Amino acid sequence: MSALQSISGKNNAPGSESYDVVVVGAGFAGMYMLHKLRGLGLSVRVYEQGGDVGGTWYWNRYPGARCDVESMQYSYSFSDELQQQWNWSERYAPQPEILRYANHVADRFGLRSDIQLNTRVDRAAFDESENSWSVATSDGRAVSAKYVVLATGCLSNARTPDIKGLSGFKGQVYHTGHWPHEQIDFTGRRVGVIGTGSSGIQLVPVIAEQASHLTVFQRTANFSIPARNAALTEAEREAFRAKYPEIRRFAREEARNGIYTEMPDRGALDDGDDERRAKYEQRWSRGGLTFMSVYNNLALDKAANDTAANFVREKIAEIVKDPQTAKLLQPNNHPIGSKRICVDTDYFAAFNRPNVTLVDIRSNPIEEITANAVRTGGKDYQVDALVLATGFDAMTGSVAKIDISGRNGQTLNQKWAAGPKTYLGLMSAGFPNLFIITGPGSPSVLSNMIVSIEQHVDWITDCIGYMRRRGFEAMEANTVAEDHWVAHVNEVAHTTLYPQANSWYMGANIPGKPQIFMPYIGGVGVYRQICNEVAAKGYEGFAMTAAETQKMAASS
Ligand SMILES: Cc1cc2nc3c(=O)[nH]c(=O)nc-3n(C[C@H](O)[C@H](O)[C@H](O)COP(=O)(O)OP(=O)(O)OC[C@H]3O[C@@H](n4cnc5c(N)ncnc54)[C@H](O)[C@@H]3O)c2cc1C
Repeated sequence: MSALQSISGKNNAPGSESYDVVVVGAGFAGMYMLHKLRGLGLSVRVYEQGGDVGGTWYWNRYPGARCDVESMQYSYSFSDELQQQWNWSERYAPQPEILRYANHVADRFGLRSDIQLNTRVDRAAFDESENSWSVATSDGRAVSAKYVVLATGCLSNARTPDIKGLSGFKGQVYHTGHWPHEQIDFTGRRVGVIGTGSSGIQLVPVIAEQASHLTVFQRTANFSIPARNAALTEAEREAFRAKYPEIRRFAREEARNGIYTEMPDRGALDDGDDERRAKYEQRWSRGGLTFMSVYNNLALDKAANDTAANFVREKIAEIVKDPQTAKLLQPNNHPIGSKRICVDTDYFAAFNRPNVTLVDIRSNPIEEITANAVRTGGKDYQVDALVLATGFDAMTGSVAKIDISGRNGQTLNQKWAAGPKTYLGLMSAGFPNLFIITGPGSPSVLSNMIVSIEQHVDWITDCIGYMRRRGFEAMEANTVAEDHWVAHVNEVAHTTLYPQANSWYMGANIPGKPQIFMPYIGGVGVYRQICNEVAAKGYEGFAMTAAETQKMAASS
């Protein structure tokens, strides 16, 4: 089948399935991508390795899992009917509700018929003579597609640490990112939690209420702000809905992180001690991620940042009764906000319970896990169950698991060996017609992800529409444009305090991973403008080729 024929629709002859677009992943990104591509009249196949849609919210079912961007904002904006009709029950919806929402979207927009579940994409190879991709899936199929869109998620490759003896542990081992579907009851059990990032901080207070004893193994103390979660009233939902046009516009165009909030016009050192403290107190009482937007220089100026960090450290000392434990829980090795700031419900207070112990594994790393204990500092902590809240190989982990080869047989893993290289986080030179949603080099994990997902999906859809209208067969990032973008992403990151932390933004949680600041920190509004300008200039920095040009070049 020629490339031109394949673009006109799918061919389901045995052994030669062909689609205009293969989308990998059926989380919020993959589902919206499917919806939009259908609008162009394209044939689309979505492959999802999980047993249902929802991505993050399908996999992360641990106790206490919920969003940390408020639900009225952590939701799709593309359908006004949807946002007017869906009733979020709480300020921060719990995981089951977000998963119900994802399923509702799949049903409401009739997406399921083009989503193949329980199917992993293992390989994708670009065929230069046909300008199309051959995609191999875990059910043994080989399909061809003009375009491949990686909607594989930034936090979807759960990381299990390499700890001596883990496989010989006789109790149950759970990973927060692969939580079982059945209810796990820890009542009466001795539980060990390894990891105190966002997931650990959410689950510790919940498991503490069930377990006979909970031992929390902490390598890095993290900053966390109280969520102040509460049920939403109908009046609150209505007030929000009435303001949706402005809230969504602001989140897309003006906010740095895709969240509607006041924009600070002052730096932390512009206020005196009392005034500054009053502002921090006010944000602490309000709760949530907007704590960091009280001043405009907390991510830029260490002295300014210290004022916020000290405030949170003081709060921890006020909440936690045992001074030794409080000291251990006070973050002291990174600026506040330079690692993803956590949002919690009674995390620090959980350490006042007699059945909760904090163990410092920075001073005394875990030596080994025995049949029924975690050994550190020469001491055995007996546990019946272990919870690994050890995070993800972020941003590149799920992409790297797919064997992707582009022009001249070069693999994406070879190209990214020293760190990911993309133009705008959307494409990588040498890999034509391969798009990434919220890829490295885009704001992605530094933002309300649904805002970033919708922007990428809309841009990719417009781009494919443009190519089709003008008869372009292949599109690819230019190496020069890509190099400039990578340098720009790096340069902007280094004007901030972010690179000072050993964070997963830097790949620092994965042994051997190159330490590059991966997301684009310029802000979603600025980034959107750059993407729009690139498109308005005929996709500047990308090369588009028409079929005939390719064939003539090949035959000359
Ligand atoms: C516990 C937790 C809480 C979070 N809370 C927030 C929040 O409050 N606000 C926020 O903005 N973000 C949050 N995030 C980030 C969250 O990942 C994004 O908001 C969003 O859900 C990402 O959607 P996605 O579709 O891009 O990726 P995902 O939801 O990760 O979906 C990707 C899908 O691709 C599938 N996949 C991957 N590789 C393959 C393959 N080779 N073949 C087939 N399928 C594949 C995966 O199975 C997965 O289902 C949170 C993340 C976690 C882990």
